[in-house]
Amino acid sequence: MKFFMLGLVLGGALAQIEMVDESTVLLEQVKKQVSEENNLDREKRAVSEDDIKDALCKDKNPGEFFRLVAGGQSCRDVVACAENGLQAIRCPPGLAFDLDKQTCEWKNQVKNCNVKARPKLALPLFNTKEPLCEPGYLACGDGQCVKQELFCDENPDCLDGSDENLCGPRTDPNRADDCDPEICRLPDCFCSPTSTKIPGNIDPQEVPQMIVLSFDDAVTTTNFPIYQRLFNGQRKNPNSCDIRSTLFVSHKYTNYSMVEELHRQGHEIATHSITHDNDEDYWTDGSKETWSEEMAGGRTILEKFARLPVGDVLGVRAPLLRLGGNNMFAALEENEFLYDSSMVAPLQNPPLWPYTTYFAIPHACHGNFQKCPTRSYGVWEMIMNEFDPREEPGSDPREQVSGCVMLDSCSEIRTPDSLYNVLTHNFIRHYEQNRAPMGLYMHAAWFSKSPEMLDALEFWIDEILATYNNVFFVTMNDVLKFMQQPFPVRDAVKFQGWKERCSALDTDDRCETSTTCVLQTDKLGGLKQRMSTCGTCPDAYPWLGDPTGSGLVDTPVFDV
Ligand SMILES: [Zn+2]
Repeated sequence: MKFFMLGLVLGGALAQIEMVDESTVLLEQVKKQVSEENNLDREKRAVSEDDIKDALCKDKNPGEFFRLVAGGQSCRDVVACAENGLQAIRCPPGLAFDLDKQTCEWKNQVKNCNVKARPKLALPLFNTKEPLCEPGYLACGDGQCVKQELFCDENPDCLDGSDENLCGPRTDPNRADDCDPEICRLPDCFCSPTSTKIPGNIDPQEVPQMIVLSFDDAVTTTNFPIYQRLFNGQRKNPNSCDIRSTLFVSHKYTNYSMVEELHRQGHEIATHSITHDNDEDYWTDGSKETWSEEMAGGRTILEKFARLPVGDVLGVRAPLLRLGGNNMFAALEENEFLYDSSMVAPLQNPPLWPYTTYFAIPHACHGNFQKCPTRSYGVWEMIMNEFDPREEPGSDPREQVSGCVMLDSCSEIRTPDSLYNVLTHNFIRHYEQNRAPMGLYMHAAWFSKSPEMLDALEFWIDEILATYNNVFFVTMNDVLKFMQQPFPVRDAVKFQGWKERCSALDTDDRCETSTTCVLQTDKLGGLKQRMSTCGTCPDAYPWLGDPTGSGLVDTPVFDV
């Protein structure tokens, strides 16, 4: 489900805010209701924005959406108390807001339209004048003292459960520190307070503009020809190497002979999980073990059946972009992944450079659907900058625009012309500001359905390549190679890190025959699954807990 953000953050005085049509009504309701419920005397003084916020928020859970008006008529509208004011959301027509799930759902599935808010959770007592507990301990909502490290570890330890109820990026008592550039140094650590600084302090004019094309999901006989058309060996970067992309490959339905070929051609292969489970909560609430099995298991499958060199699968993208918070990042760190590319930064100018998650995340978490980590990890974040869905910059820089993440699910992009214009506008946005890497995130399936969009993308790529000698279409790992050892654009053409697997001619085709294995696993009810590989067929269909397809998972063999 998607939100339409109304851009309704109450920043300045209420009267000055330009509201989107119906939401004005919503705010009028807030004012009226709050004044009445709290007997604020409107004769004496105007109701201020802070009065409204305080009155509404005093009995609400921080960051949680609630209704101002109960009942089916207003079930699309909710607001939340955010740090900088109230935030309003209106679900698209046909949908309603589900308080329990905290997301828009089909109207007939929402059973709590008559409830205004979820009960307020017990909160820990962090901000008391005198500390209530010994050093190393913190106070639960009822005054009980509990070890600090037990707060926000996803297990309730306080009797009232309050140790798990205030765990945001700014409130988790065990959260990562804010960026300290003195401690955080390249090549292993990179941060800046707003994440807009260029690594190595290179002058923006001197930075090679990197563009990362990335594709998600299974590689199949349907989408393989699309990759072959886009990456036809004729499209060259200024260093004469082929333009390339990063593919986040999920296991089910993937043809590993084709993945092997794409890797040979120079593309980067990353993992997008084994199951690609479509239940959003599976990922959001996933344990560290789940994330390990899904991502490290996905990597094992790629290494074994696409025969990728060990150490070449470096990155991860969460299915449905549903982050799993600290559990997810702890699993990535433990399994030595180099980077994640699932976190979404709200549209902003200038856009963000990737950063390491050793320090606190330098942007607002996309709180509507992402559960960001709050603690410190040794993983790079290839941040997904939302792009500006407009075909050209607006005339009023204060205009609130909500960005898009995936190119193929951006409702503003309806025609090939609009795709071309949006790409051009956003390219300039990166190129003329801080040259942060520009990511284009998509699914090849989009181009099967809308071949005219592929034409527009190709036209745009060719135009960029013909116009600029300082723009490179590279992989995520290539971006990291640049960031760890930044260089001015005059050195880009000879940078060896970008010349590995320069074209398909550089690597021999080792695939003699591709075999289509017909396999099964008890974990999928014994249903037959097809899987193509240039290697040998395993005994069972590779799956969670058995990525090599040994078939031996449920009957462990013990040494006697
Ligand atoms: Zn996906």
